[in-house]
Amino acid sequence: MNNTVGHWSEGKPFQGTAGSHAPITNPASGAVVGQVALASERDAQTVIEAAVAAFPAWRDTSLTRRVAVLFRFRELLNERKGELAEIITREHGKVLSDALGEISRGQEVVEFACGIPHLLKGSYTESASTSVDVFSVRQPVGVVGMISPFNFPAMVPMWFFPIAIAAGNTVVLKPSEKDPSASLWLAELWAEAGLPDGVFNVLQGDKVATDAILDSPDVKAVSFVGSTPIAQYVYSRAAESGKRVQALGGAKNHAVVLPDADLDLAADGLVNAGFGSAGERCMAISVAVAVGGIADDLVDRIRQRAESLKVGDGTRSADMGPLVTREHRDRVASYVNQGEAAGAKVVVDGRAVDPDGGPDGFWLGPTLLDHVSRDMSVYTDEIFGPVLSVVRVETYAQAIDLINSNQYGNGTAIFTSDGGAARHFQNEIEVGMIGINIPIPIPLAYYSFGGWKNSLFGDTHAHGMEGVNFFTRAKTITSRWSDPSHRGIDLGFPSNA
Ligand code: NAD
Repeated sequence: MNNTVGHWSEGKPFQGTAGSHAPITNPASGAVVGQVALASERDAQTVIEAAVAAFPAWRDTSLTRRVAVLFRFRELLNERKGELAEIITREHGKVLSDALGEISRGQEVVEFACGIPHLLKGSYTESASTSVDVFSVRQPVGVVGMISPFNFPAMVPMWFFPIAIAAGNTVVLKPSEKDPSASLWLAELWAEAGLPDGVFNVLQGDKVATDAILDSPDVKAVSFVGSTPIAQYVYSRAAESGKRVQALGGAKNHAVVLPDADLDLAADGLVNAGFGSAGERCMAISVAVAVGGIADDLVDRIRQRAESLKVGDGTRSADMGPLVTREHRDRVASYVNQGEAAGAKVVVDGRAVDPDGGPDGFWLGPTLLDHVSRDMSVYTDEIFGPVLSVVRVETYAQAIDLINSNQYGNGTAIFTSDGGAARHFQNEIEVGMIGINIPIPIPLAYYSFGGWKNSLFGDTHAHGMEGVNFFTRAKTITSRWSDPSHRGIDLGFPSNA
């Protein structure tokens, strides 16, 4: 096979020694379009060593020079993001406009990281004690590992690496093996922007590659994004070897619609957030909680909109593309079957979709299930597909209880025209990111992204100041310049005077 996607190490492609590969498919046609190398432990060691070797010089490179590379990277990305979007659509399946959207959100983090000189400014206290000055600085942690999921092959790595690199670290990125090419495109862009060899590296692979990063004593911090079971595993294993770790997991995001909501606005928001990117977003809304007597009306408005969506090849004028793999498509469809068998009403049936795409593509159209109850698997599990479940409750208090008793706490939204209810909701709800009349409340780059409960392991969210803190460690210096009056032996505990 000609198109073999390999690793990136020391500023150039590295094919590695592994004999093992995984196929890459185009979800819109079902065709195998290439293969990705799956790193052996030896390959992982080679790539990590490149990052180790590059660290001392990059750490000591002036902020001015580091930032100049970041600005150049930002300009190149902005000019050429169309190329990257095409790569994402070809391997992931999402429509081109959506691929461009994820790149733009990643670019915002690059722009935030361009301000690193300001973000890294420490503090200084003159004469904290007689002739003693105290100051603190933040220094890079060293080699940092990033392990990313299939659903945002550009944005999720860009939540982390711009800040990590700007702060003086060197990076080993392990992308998802399902859509690995975006990472290599980004690596080439870094090289073109003038980043020194070895500062940004890509290690392709599966569990072997992940575990090599988690276990390597040379890797000092790990940022992971993926499903909850793997996030939990990564968190424990990385912490066991003494690393700092942030591990973002899965989600089941609810949107509450109160009786006083603008139902057209709510229905628009639910369709956009439920079916955008075929529901393969960690911030997708998968449960609409209809409060009081509005459910029939709301379901009808969602139905009309969902039925009008065009499903097809993401390079054509579709609203929604295919799912990422055949296995995933079949898994999502089986949840719809289970929901139906358990008594949910299939209002819009995506299993019967007629797509504008190849007959062997991984198609499943927008699916709307009504009368879903909290014991059904379609409700309890993260499905990660274009399936919106409507749960009917009588009261606002029941809606809050439903969300707060869910194991996930990534994102949520409320639709209402009552400011008091919205304020109560933002205060009481146990979820990390909240939208008020906004269905997908993704924080901007200068805030931090992350959920609560089983949606995040560790205490640090992505990007914003939490990102800067994650990729740096504080050092506090207490200094006294010689003054003859300070000479002499004193074994007492240092005190200030
Ligand atoms: P995944 O957990 O299957 O894979 C994530 C990464 O872990 C990939 O790089 C994969 O190669 C690696 N991996 C998978 N299994 C492994 C194992 N047993 N041992 C070691 N490494 C392993 O997730 P996915 O299917 O690629 O992505 C979808 C999931 O990611 C969903 O659950 C979604 O909610 C979640 N996600 C969460 C966020 C967030 O911000 N919380 C953002 C995006 C995606």
